[in-house]
Amino acid sequence: METGREMKGRGEFGLIGRFFASLGASREDVVLGVGDDAALLDPAPGHQLALAVDTLVEGVHFPASTDPFDIGHKALAVNLSDMAAMGADPAWATLALTMPRHDAEWLARFSEGFGTLARRFGVALVGGDTTRGPLTITVQVGGLVAPGRAMRRDGARPGDLVCITGTLGDAGLGLRLALGEATLGEGAEYFLDRLNRPTPRVEAGRALATIATAAIDLSDGLAADLGHLLEAGGVGATLDAARLPVAPEVKRLARERPWWRWPLTAGDDYELCFTVSPSRRGAMERALATCGCPVTIIGTIGAEPGLRITEGSTTVSFEERGGYDHFE
Ligand code: ADP
Ligand code: MG
Repeated sequence: METGREMKGRGEFGLIGRFFASLGASREDVVLGVGDDAALLDPAPGHQLALAVDTLVEGVHFPASTDPFDIGHKALAVNLSDMAAMGADPAWATLALTMPRHDAEWLARFSEGFGTLARRFGVALVGGDTTRGPLTITVQVGGLVAPGRAMRRDGARPGDLVCITGTLGDAGLGLRLALGEATLGEGAEYFLDRLNRPTPRVEAGRALATIATAAIDLSDGLAADLGHLLEAGGVGATLDAARLPVAPEVKRLARERPWWRWPLTAGDDYELCFTVSPSRRGAMERALATCGCPVTIIGTIGAEPGLRITEGSTTVSFEERGGYDHFE
């Protein structure tokens, strides 16, 4: 069969060698990288290995018009964001790339986007797979974390503060701008950047590892992702709408009512949502200030399950999860 087969022969090996043979950081713990049947890694002794994998599909995770540089960036960024949420230090990546044709120009841009971000975070590309088919990018990242230090989803306790880094809903507005569903004279570039080139909060995750009680990264929207954290911990949360860090443009252009429904469900934020005991608030703020990461306390954890939003004197239960579910 012509479609879906591996891109074997000169074409495949030529393009692997040209674009992927030594992409990203070079690391001493890579004994053997791209080119053999498997990579050989020599992880630092006394560490746990954190592993995550994510797939981006054209038309599902990014519009077909997306710049290949941004696709390369984002395919790695979403995985680095998972490392950040665990408090792990990203180290190695593998890349399974399915594409409709061998397009050298596309590959050059894609690998530039991937490689630039990989070098910035010290990640080496150590292997992968290349096949023909509808454009689909799967990246797996491995990272290191000291035993007992990783942040899990299940540690939130009643009384803990609910915090998030950065702002919510920027990428949601970016997507509407990219699809021509919204227009913005000034400042559109910022929101498109937040959609296409998210910066994973790796330093913040590392800094929070011994401070936060639970953490998750925001890919599907705060309502859905915080929902996972609450479920894992067997707790609930009440958020204050007035404290949600949302750009005025997002608030103004929200078609949903109440306005906060959009920034809570749009997704693609790639910020961290975490919980911290009030007694550790100062330590948390100092740790994040050290890495220049903005943080906002948006609510508190309670014993009663579910997510509630308070606006002025009214509190509503956030019933529908929102967020993106591929099978709904
Ligand atoms: P095998 O058939 O043994 O799996 P492949 O022909 O798939 O080997 O790949 C040859 C080498 O190139 C392997 O080391 C593999 O990890 C690497 N590789 C293939 N595709 C990619 C890619 N897209 N990015 C990085 N490395 C790749
Ligand atoms: Mg293979």
